[in-house]
Amino acid sequence: MPLDPALRERILSAVADGFADQIAFTQELVRFPSTRGQEHAVQDHVFRALKARGYAMDRFAMDREAIAAHPGGAPVTDEHSDAPIVVGIHRPRTETGRSLILQAHVDVVPAGPAAMWTRPPFEPAVVDGWLHGRGGADMKAGLAANLFCLDALRRIGLQPAATVYVQSVVEEEATGNGALMAHLRGYRAEAALIPEPMEEQLVRANTGVLWFRLSVGGTPAHLREMGAGANAIDAAYRVIGALRDLEAALNREAPQHRHFDDAAHPINLNVGRIEGGDWPSSVPCWCRVDCRIALYPGMKPADMARRIEAVVADFARTDPFLAANPPEVAFNGFWAEGYVLEPGSEAEAVLGRAHAEATGEALRSFMSPCYLDARVYALYDRIPTLCYGPISQGIHAFDERVNLASLQRITGAMALFVAEWCGLEEIAP
Ligand code: ZN
Repeated sequence: MPLDPALRERILSAVADGFADQIAFTQELVRFPSTRGQEHAVQDHVFRALKARGYAMDRFAMDREAIAAHPGGAPVTDEHSDAPIVVGIHRPRTETGRSLILQAHVDVVPAGPAAMWTRPPFEPAVVDGWLHGRGGADMKAGLAANLFCLDALRRIGLQPAATVYVQSVVEEEATGNGALMAHLRGYRAEAALIPEPMEEQLVRANTGVLWFRLSVGGTPAHLREMGAGANAIDAAYRVIGALRDLEAALNREAPQHRHFDDAAHPINLNVGRIEGGDWPSSVPCWCRVDCRIALYPGMKPADMARRIEAVVADFARTDPFLAANPPEVAFNGFWAEGYVLEPGSEAEAVLGRAHAEATGEALRSFMSPCYLDARVYALYDRIPTLCYGPISQGIHAFDERVNLASLQRITGAMALFVAEWCGLEEIAP
């Protein structure tokens, strides 16, 4: 049932009253340089923040066997984080509403060259209404919003009348195994909301993602013998060309895929990292290329993996050097299907009302071509999963920043969403 207008106003002003503290908490989170494998301290900080609010706490490690046995589990390599997953649980006095998962990830992508940043990436600063810092937008602002939308209700003596799980996960930027681990731990709810930086829009459809490493090797030679193209780095470039052809073929399939039929280039192959060779005057005998490619919802990671292997093997047979030195393909990260948020769910309707109240605009939806943890809740819990969050710039790039006016609007919408979805009850005196 839509909220009473007076209550809506009280909730939105409670969000405004807490917003300075919310910014300060977001800045605390950004100060932790929580790149992959370095998320332990920030997870401890989140644990303390949830515990101080009186939530029942759970903290657990990755169950590598359970992840390996799950169809959405990504390979666990040496680079995989061993930081824990943290969950704070709100239990109401009387369970009368609908339960909810509020999720966010604390891992951030590497900052890259410091010279590309106007300010040090892990020293958050507010400039002209934007909070700058690596991981601020993606997605520590969202993590803070998960806590502060509940705090706003508490500030006016209210709390959700249903169980709410506040999940803080890792590995979102490499495997998605953190969200999967929360699922494997057994947490279930009737809807999930993940405030990723989504330009105040709702994700309607999301691609899956695969990571793979291409390894090209061959007999080392002296420079005077290299005329035949027997150079692992040159050969790796030729294989990348074949993979670009696969990318083009996948994009030509867009019209066959619902929600992607008008997207110009939904499937991106990113050649993200390359290393090889030993010396400027030695012909390189090895090259490794780390890649990421997207797949349409409904496509299975295993099918895409076979397709990539076939492209590489077929191309290698046409190339003298590669035919003699067949390249290897290893899948070393994301092994994730895409998902679609089917229109018409009650959760979406509630968010639509909350968004309209908090922003004055109708809620729009769009297609996202990047990995999202939302796939775990959408595919395996089979619940409405709302990926929706603030306006940002520079995520996965330089001078990452989140717009603070937008963040306040989103936090207001989240508080209204929780109030209507979960219902409210008075906090026990
Ligand atoms: Zn993110």
